[in-house]
Amino acid sequence: MAASTLKIDLAAIRSNWRKLDSLTSPNCETAAVVKAGAYGLGAEKILPDLRSAGAKTFFVALAEEGMAARTHLPGDEEIFVLSGHMDGDADLLARGRLTPILNSAAQIERHLGLLPGHPFGLQFETGMNRLGMCAAEFASVRERALNANPALAMSHLACADDQGHPMNSRQLAEFKSATSELGVRRSLAATGGMILGPEFSFDLCRPGIGLFGGLPHAGAAPVVYLDLPVLQVRDVKAGETVGYGAEWTAGAPTRIATVSGGYADGIFRAAGGRGRLFAGEFACEFVGRVSMDLLAVDVSGLDEVPSELQFMGDRQTIDNIADAAGTIGYEILTSIGDRFRRTYTGGIGS
Ligand SMILES: *Cc1c(COP(=O)(O)O)cnc(C)c1O
Repeated sequence: MAASTLKIDLAAIRSNWRKLDSLTSPNCETAAVVKAGAYGLGAEKILPDLRSAGAKTFFVALAEEGMAARTHLPGDEEIFVLSGHMDGDADLLARGRLTPILNSAAQIERHLGLLPGHPFGLQFETGMNRLGMCAAEFASVRERALNANPALAMSHLACADDQGHPMNSRQLAEFKSATSELGVRRSLAATGGMILGPEFSFDLCRPGIGLFGGLPHAGAAPVVYLDLPVLQVRDVKAGETVGYGAEWTAGAPTRIATVSGGYADGIFRAAGGRGRLFAGEFACEFVGRVSMDLLAVDVSGLDEVPSELQFMGDRQTIDNIADAAGTIGYEILTSIGDRFRRTYTGGIGS
């Protein structure tokens, strides 16, 4: 069989959630950010498992994702929608009992007009300049918004993965000045902010990547395992080339394994020349360009070529893979293709 199986360790996700939860004070709630289908790993299995582990609050990016999340959960959790209340969202927000994070005065007007009495949160701009209101914008709707009882006041850190970055304390101060008088539950930290220290935690934290085994959660357990089937093994002579563009030339006789998996599966073309697969502890270097469905590795050092080589797992984390491709673990996870069969282990229900 040429199709690979992506193995997702639910017990590792729960353990990562608990580890992050233990960094904060007991009166700070740890939510779970599960946008983009739980970072590409599959909301259907992951959400109920995190719920069983104790997560009661979830964040998604879009109302549509929130609606899907609702169908995977027992029903008593709060689901926040980070993009807020956009034109056309009212029906989904109402039916899914979703709580939009309102990012602008216009979103506040729309929400209070279309769904009076329906819960919402507020996002404040503190330095990221992505979503959220600055003080002047909020002033124009402040009384109406506060009278309607916001469920959360939040902001997002731009540089939390860099402990020493001056933006962190600047945004912390901005956040305090924007929210300390509101009398509303507050949230500033994602994974990086939780690691910066308890002064960033406030009432609720919003980890995402740290649940799924990625930096900046350095102590995270790996969550994703992917072995790629070897389709063919060949010996090439010195001077022969491998792959598109004849980009790689054998300097000596070399044994090449052609493996099932390519850029359509999220194995970035940019990793050509720097990527590796593992046979046990032994690293097999990518050779030539990654194609859509296939890639080649040098297996000359192996006595015997196994039927599968490991791409993701204990030997190679999503961040190792990201380094080789010049990106971040987040992008590796959310780019994993849908040709892989997904299997889940360690689930509370399994
Ligand atoms: C994606 C996101 C998070 C989660 O961030 P991680 O770095 O994955 O922990 C939290 N808050 C907001 C606003 C986000 O967009």
